[in-house]
Amino acid sequence: MSVVGFDLGNESCIVAVARQRGIDVVLNDESKRETPAIVCFGEKQRFIGAAGAASTMMNPKNSISQMKRLIGRKFSDPELQRDLKSLPFQVTEGPDGFPLIHVRYLGEPKVFTPTQVLGMMLSNLKEIAEKNLNAAVVDCCIGIPAYFTDLQRRAVLDAATIAGLHPLQLIHEMTATALAYGIYKTDLPENDQLNVAFVDIGHSSMQVCIAGFKKGQLKVLAHTYDRNLGGRDFDEVLFQRFAAKFKEQYKIDVYENARASLRLRAACEKLKKVLSANPEAPLNIECLMDDKDVKGSIKRDEFEQISASILERVKKPLEKALAETGLAVENIHTVEVVGSGSRVPAVVKILSEVFGKEPRRTLNASECVARGCALECAILSPNFKVREFQVNESFPFSVSMSWKGTVPGAENGVEENQQSTLVFSKGNPIPSVKALTFYRSGTFHVDVQYADSTDLPESAKISTYTIGPFQCKAERAKVKVKARLNLHGIVSVESAILEEEELEVPVIKENTSKMETDSGAVPFSGDDDASMQDAKGTANAGADTSNDENGVPDSVDKPVQVETKTKAVAPKKKVTKTNVPVAELIYGGLSKGDLQAAVEKEFEMALQDRVMEETKDKKNAVEAYVYEMRNKLNDKYQEFVTDSEREQYTARLQEVEDWLYEDGEDETKGAYVAKLEDLKKQGDPIEERYKEYTDRGAVTDQLMYCI
Ligand code: ATP
Ligand code: MG
Repeated sequence: MSVVGFDLGNESCIVAVARQRGIDVVLNDESKRETPAIVCFGEKQRFIGAAGAASTMMNPKNSISQMKRLIGRKFSDPELQRDLKSLPFQVTEGPDGFPLIHVRYLGEPKVFTPTQVLGMMLSNLKEIAEKNLNAAVVDCCIGIPAYFTDLQRRAVLDAATIAGLHPLQLIHEMTATALAYGIYKTDLPENDQLNVAFVDIGHSSMQVCIAGFKKGQLKVLAHTYDRNLGGRDFDEVLFQRFAAKFKEQYKIDVYENARASLRLRAACEKLKKVLSANPEAPLNIECLMDDKDVKGSIKRDEFEQISASILERVKKPLEKALAETGLAVENIHTVEVVGSGSRVPAVVKILSEVFGKEPRRTLNASECVARGCALECAILSPNFKVREFQVNESFPFSVSMSWKGTVPGAENGVEENQQSTLVFSKGNPIPSVKALTFYRSGTFHVDVQYADSTDLPESAKISTYTIGPFQCKAERAKVKVKARLNLHGIVSVESAILEEEELEVPVIKENTSKMETDSGAVPFSGDDDASMQDAKGTANAGADTSNDENGVPDSVDKPVQVETKTKAVAPKKKVTKTNVPVAELIYGGLSKGDLQAAVEKEFEMALQDRVMEETKDKKNAVEAYVYEMRNKLNDKYQEFVTDSEREQYTARLQEVEDWLYEDGEDETKGAYVAKLEDLKKQGDPIEERYKEYTDRGAVTDQLMYCI
């Protein structure tokens, strides 16, 4: 079973695998540790990852990047709209309100969902891992930002399914980083807690995680973030400044010219990096627009002035994280920085100010997430022995459930109001299970939503569960609903069980000392309340009967044990439990049918890619044969062919070479195979004559040697 970790970046991805001796970051086809997150659609095939990056310049409209920012978001989401402005490919709103990516593929216009494209990227990463491990890869852990919503998490899982992967866990990137940091530390305190703040400022987002380390474990104390704050924001202020300057100075408006904008933005990013190491940086671009060369420069002081509002925003997630943990800065022992966006000196200054200490960069910033993911996969995998290390993850959101309830005392009991309860609050351990008890006479609905929507990109609604139908003997029956927050940080209603009580006159057995009234028909064995608590011991949901309209206490479902020495006569209560159907409606994402279709489509496209790769290989083989044979005919095969034979064959080889560049440039695999066979018909006998001679020579040499 494979143990693999994937860091799925906006710009680039890293694959780490666990081997017996440790975790290795593996190389892609181009022997690079980082694989660009790009899927390029071509006339005959797709080019993904490293191959995709090479095609981007030639084919920008069909080169899809930044899919991580597109998945699981509504088209109308303002954050998505802002991101789309800087992307060169076409995205429209699909019938379901989610984005559709338009490309030209195999000579036709095609549309794909962002999830499908992410699936393509993942299948490329899967292949990289498989080539390195020389084995099939299915089980894995994938890093995701802590701010990913339920829908975004589901989209990553769907993309993984499309790629033929089975994630054991979607792990928060910063938690993976914390794990990669902590597991190798041999000096963690046994009784004390070492608190470390991890800060990642990347290209487009910022994340903070404060974790407490003890010997053999880490506990996430807080996750905070700004989904839209990163290095690109600094590029943007520089861009605006230079665009305004050039308008005044050179009378050109780069906003009117897409190519000029792109070039200026790239130059600004470069300039920003220069400013990280120098107090002043120049900017020169030849022929930016209207044949005008532009020149400019900026001092670091001015850069910091115009970036003041961005720098101010950097503070927020830091302060929020501190506030959420309740820790004083003195109790943060170390600040570890990853992410290159934090290389701006003013950012480092803010980190130092907020935490009262210099941030450190001891982690391998580009690889720590992938390594942490592979470590977590190894921890979860039964086939791997890893140093005992427990990761106590914390849920970054608050999720509530709501339903319609009857207002107590209302006439006929028909008036309904919306009631809700917090089921998993922010900071809740992951994973976790909670039970809610409802008293209902028939099918009912439960909505799952974020309790605090202020910091969410879209509507707070996650899903609706229809629980029922069921039949109950009494007017109302008790239905226990089990809600799960799974390892991926996804919330769902897992099951519902109808519990009905009946009064039962116990069968009296005289000579036994004890008698059990609860029959073996109970679907749960033993105390089912305990089985509904989560793995980390969190108590049952507060929703239990607190919102129940008739307020009947939940107390009579424990197995009852009765002493029977004296004859028991009181009737006892028997509880029967029946599973109730639960139907799920998720607001967004692929349906099961769509997902299956996407899996099949991916298979088809992968096959096409493979055929094209093989075609290229066969074409190369023809070309290589032509060159090799031509050289040999004039060299070692010279004595084994007549002059006329050589001339004729050389002309034939030339003919094939010309064909390769003309009519045969774009042929089928079969055509190249046939061409090579054809050439070999004439070439093989020559080769044989040569071989026969050299073999004989070898025998003679050997004989002489023996003598
Ligand atoms: P994200 O985390 O948003 O998915 P990412 O992980 O790809 O993005 P990083 O590679 O951590 O992002 O950081 C990229 C950002 O860092 C870019 O905006 C880049 O311009 C910026 N950057 C890189 N080097 C420097 C530098 N020396 N000084 C300032 N900024 C830099
Ligand atoms: Mg990053």
